[in-house]
Amino acid sequence: MKESLRILFISAEVAPFAKKGGLGDVAGSLPKALKEMGHDVRVVMPAYQNIEEGIANGRYDFKIHPGQLQVPLGGRTFLVGVLESLLPGSEVPIYFIAEKNLFNRPEIYGYADDPYRFAFFSRAALDLSAALAWRPDILHAHDWHTGPAVNWLATSGQTDPNFHGIPSLFTIHNLAHQGRSDWNIQNYLGISPYSLDEEGYGEVNFMARAIFHATMINTVSPTYSREILSPSGGAGLDGLLRHRSYDVHGILNGLDYQEWNPATDARLASTFDSEELAKRQINRRALQERANLPLLDDVPLVAMITRLDFQKGLDISGHVIHSLMNAYAGEAQLVILGSGEAEYERMLAQIASYHTEKMSVFLDYMPELAPLIYGGSDMFLMPSRFEPCGLGQLIAMRYGSVPVVRATGGLVDTVEDGITGFQFQEYDANAFWHALQKAINLFHTDKEGWQRIQQAGMKADFSWQRSANGYQQLYRWALARIAG
Ligand code: ADP
Repeated sequence: MKESLRILFISAEVAPFAKKGGLGDVAGSLPKALKEMGHDVRVVMPAYQNIEEGIANGRYDFKIHPGQLQVPLGGRTFLVGVLESLLPGSEVPIYFIAEKNLFNRPEIYGYADDPYRFAFFSRAALDLSAALAWRPDILHAHDWHTGPAVNWLATSGQTDPNFHGIPSLFTIHNLAHQGRSDWNIQNYLGISPYSLDEEGYGEVNFMARAIFHATMINTVSPTYSREILSPSGGAGLDGLLRHRSYDVHGILNGLDYQEWNPATDARLASTFDSEELAKRQINRRALQERANLPLLDDVPLVAMITRLDFQKGLDISGHVIHSLMNAYAGEAQLVILGSGEAEYERMLAQIASYHTEKMSVFLDYMPELAPLIYGGSDMFLMPSRFEPCGLGQLIAMRYGSVPVVRATGGLVDTVEDGITGFQFQEYDANAFWHALQKAINLFHTDKEGWQRIQQAGMKADFSWQRSANGYQQLYRWALARIAG
């Protein structure tokens, strides 16, 4: 089998161009690691409004190919422009599908026509490879938005000489979002109905279709890849996933070590490495000042940075924050950075209003503040209900903040209980509080033991190199499957 693979990498989010969560981080980092391994990887994403604006004001350096790509959909042929650039800091080509009616909008998602938007994107991304006369060895598609590409490639695409025999790897970043659409979208995409359970429900489910049709499937941690096979973790698709369980793998996400490095991070008040933990004190002070908290040294400074979402364990956090702020485990300080659902914003603002001396809440998305919180806090809370991989705990460990996490998904695979952090099993406030108390107790009673945990976390390897090796293996298995 040849060494260097041509990988067509398609995603609705690619950092730094467009990012809502872990998907964007993965799509912005993994291709670079694959390129460094010698693969010819090309990334395709939609040209959202911020990207079109970035070109107009000179923020991004692009080549523009106006109206050159032919995309056959819904019985007609669309002509769309394509923008071309490089993933920042790399030689990886990235192409943007510039269909203004569909993508030149302020948000990435959240529109009634999302299934049609991403069906268009999926087809255009495949057609682009043909237009470039660049036949990929494999399609690597991510989350439901690229499900139409997997579906088309495995069915109608097999009758097209440009696409015949190309396998796909489908990566599930979050099973909760599935991309449901009306039946007509099949005609639009040019795919024939296929016997899937979903057909009884009179709707198309692109997550389900991608799981059904992909040559190989993976999720972003080994534990999550097992959890989704059970009714409690399968979001209604566990039956289908069990049907394909032999082909479902788990590969942990890596962390972008260029972006997240406490030894070079200019967003910190002081840089530091694992041998210079004392310098974290400067960040702690800066954080306390920024958060308007008393400049105390010997109380644990506990932090949380999160989307305020059902997934993230905010409902069990209410009781725990209450106990922490009422000093049931001794004095503590708490800083929370988060944005999202109004009910959680209200809850946090209300608790904070009772404890202004100890607690500070930033209800906003503030990437410039996050590093200081990671680098200045003692403990980082992640009580997720479910967590496909999670980046927060990886960044916290890298920055010497000890994670206290629920034992679910990627949190199980990355935080070692008592070695790099603290875990609790049951999704309830008591279990969470017990784990946090354990952490606080160690913080107070055993400074050396505490530093050992910090240093073990800082030295753990979550580089993309490690993950990229795993993906390379899956590409090869998918190719062998098609050949075999
Ligand atoms: P998810 O992708 O489910 O939101 P992850 O833990 O995988 O969770 O990734 C979260 C990322 O988003 C981390 O880099 C975290 O620092 C960042 N983040 C989350 N909320 C905020 C916020 N309000 N402000 C700044 N960064 C945030």
